[in-house]
Amino acid sequence: METKFKEKINLMGLNKKALEDFFVSIDEKPFRATQIIKWIHQRGVSDISQMTDLSKNLREKLMAKCEIRVPEVVYEKTSKDGTKKWVIKVGEKDLIEMVLIPEKNRSTLCVSSQVGCAVDCSFCATGKQGFSRNLGLDEIIGQVWVAANSFGLPREPNSRHITNVVMMGMGEPLLNFEPVVGAMNIMTDDNAYGLSKRKVTLSTSGIVPKIDELSKVTDIALTISLHAPNDKLRDELVPINKKYPIQELLDSVKRYVDSCDDKRVTTIEYILIDGINDGLDHAEELSELLKQLPSKINLIPFNAFEGSNYLKPSGNRVKRFQAFLQDRGYVTTIRSTRGDDIMAACGQLVGQVNDRTRRKERSKNQIKTKAL
Ligand code: SAH
Ligand code: SF4
Repeated sequence: METKFKEKINLMGLNKKALEDFFVSIDEKPFRATQIIKWIHQRGVSDISQMTDLSKNLREKLMAKCEIRVPEVVYEKTSKDGTKKWVIKVGEKDLIEMVLIPEKNRSTLCVSSQVGCAVDCSFCATGKQGFSRNLGLDEIIGQVWVAANSFGLPREPNSRHITNVVMMGMGEPLLNFEPVVGAMNIMTDDNAYGLSKRKVTLSTSGIVPKIDELSKVTDIALTISLHAPNDKLRDELVPINKKYPIQELLDSVKRYVDSCDDKRVTTIEYILIDGINDGLDHAEELSELLKQLPSKINLIPFNAFEGSNYLKPSGNRVKRFQAFLQDRGYVTTIRSTRGDDIMAACGQLVGQVNDRTRRKERSKNQIKTKAL
């Protein structure tokens, strides 16, 4: 008969409060929590025996009860433009992806919050995959841990290789609220990754009650995936709109912004799909709609993936849309496509280990990934 061992506590998955409670429960002082956070998240150490500012006794006590489970990287690849993608195995069978995008003065890590996504936006490969499960706090912060360690160990003190984190990988972060907020708190903790709240961004398709909940616990940067200037079109592209229509969404964003200590301009993400939402009439409607909210607009030319009938608009159409909004006074940027040769671009993340150099294997792999 199979013997079941009690699973050890995973210290990677505990936020500061949970760590403090844990230490109190084993008759230790709560300040130990900060020491552990520093070891794991500031120094990148996963071996309790190396935590030399804890007494040998305490280390042994901890090793008997706990461990630090690090994500299992099953594939990593660097794109021609320097974008790096990791595929990580979570649990028994699920695969998630994260992407690091280096630029001149910053490096942005794009983190996943769920395996798949239930929102099912019509243009998104992750959505088309369906929803498998939420990631735990350990699996979310573990992505940042892996990326930070990829710059080499021991980590240089105060090295800030990753300057920005965006919750724009797989999944809808506000539908996995507690673990996402817990992980973001570790990202901004000075004893951990020390990122500024303005540089940790949660992107949402618009889960209105959760935006209100978020305003009560944090003031990290919030971006809204709008993608359409009216409810009729948004119902089609972002089906959650039927539940939380545009005006309700914008009202909740206003409440969020009001709750922040500093003045905020909200970033509105707008995917451009050829012939669907990229006309000048759409730009006009969008510019009228956003008059009510200080916003800047980030245009994302649609990235193709297998099984989608949508097309990327021509560069001219994208520029025309941008110019229209700029004329109306909106700061409007175009998100450059990074890492698409390794299927690491926005909307291409489905948890698969293939790339263009292995294009022929792709459909085979996708079937395998789905069947896993
Ligand atoms: N669920 C959240 C966060 C993850 S989606 C949200 O929707 O905001 C991450 C980003 O990728 C979103 O801005 C989304 O609009 C974009 N995206 C999804 N599919 C895409 C595609 N096929 N091409 C380009 N961008 C895409
Ligand atoms: Fe989910 Fe975001 Fe993709 Fe929509 S765009 S299906 S909310 S991951």
